[in-house]
Amino acid sequence: MTALERVRAACHHEPTDRVPVGPFAGFCAARLTGVSLRRYVTDGQAIADAQIALQHAVGHDIVVTAADTYYLAEGFGLEVEFHENALPTAKGPLLTDLKDVDCLRVPDPKRDGRMPVYLDAVRLLSAALGDQVAIRGTGTGPFSIAAYLFGMQRFLMTLAEIEAGEDEDERHVHQLLSMTAEASTAFLKAQFEAGAHILYLGDSLASADMISPAMYRRFVLPYHQRIFAEVNGQGAFTLLHICGDNTVMLDALAETGANVLEIDHKMNLGLCKQRIGDRICLIGNLDPVQTMLHGTTEDVRRESRRCIEQAGQGGGFILGTGCFVPYDSPLENLRAMVETSRQEQIK
Ligand SMILES: [Zn+2]
Repeated sequence: MTALERVRAACHHEPTDRVPVGPFAGFCAARLTGVSLRRYVTDGQAIADAQIALQHAVGHDIVVTAADTYYLAEGFGLEVEFHENALPTAKGPLLTDLKDVDCLRVPDPKRDGRMPVYLDAVRLLSAALGDQVAIRGTGTGPFSIAAYLFGMQRFLMTLAEIEAGEDEDERHVHQLLSMTAEASTAFLKAQFEAGAHILYLGDSLASADMISPAMYRRFVLPYHQRIFAEVNGQGAFTLLHICGDNTVMLDALAETGANVLEIDHKMNLGLCKQRIGDRICLIGNLDPVQTMLHGTTEDVRRESRRCIEQAGQGGGFILGTGCFVPYDSPLENLRAMVETSRQEQIK
């Protein structure tokens, strides 16, 4: 099986020769080619070169273009600051009043913000790797983009006031979320056209660590469903990532329509498999910091075996990490994930 065939089979809950391995190894690849993070997030060629170097060194099944989180919000007009050896940071919210939503325009992924950088990366990876290795794109979810544009604290407070019946401006919130969902959808579609096999939607702020399950159902789920309904069925797989412990909203996450759900290390993978594993392919859930950054190769092997035992049964599982692999994680730790998958298969 090629890496791509293995990943496709897992997404379909079909048998594989071994469990596919797809750590969320994005910008940590910059170390292999020695480019600065500033260059990495502004140059699609730098992303593609580093991802290819990492894949050659590790042998995993999925390359990952995702690096920073603001490229799409920038398309709406959010200003960011670049740093030589750190990811970009937002300068401040774009909207001072929710009513300003009326002045926003949905960005064009081929032209606006830094979306073209990530489209270039997919195109270059597709040209270099063809259909051998699965290409996972990037994509920020509607809730997170809205929070970047309006300011996280103010956005959450407004939602809490609406929930409590103290704010009448729900219409503008939904108008904003409709626009950001439209922007996410357009960007995912453009990446599919560029050659991505896995269309990734990361909506980290829509986490149960930040909002209640009721708020997720009211302000997030309808938009996730809308996005996945529009991009599913084209031939790529969709993957949803939300940071944190989302055990209380597992069923809602399985209703989004995403083909694959990334499981954070804070969650019990076995429980997720039991509750929703027959409906959605799972990817996870090694601890990015404790295991990938600070752990030994033996820790990685033990944790990888634990994941395969908890979720590998019956397919529909990809061995991965709960979130981004930190920049300084040893390469041997990434290799240990692939080695363990191979050994578990031999048994
Ligand atoms: Zn995360």
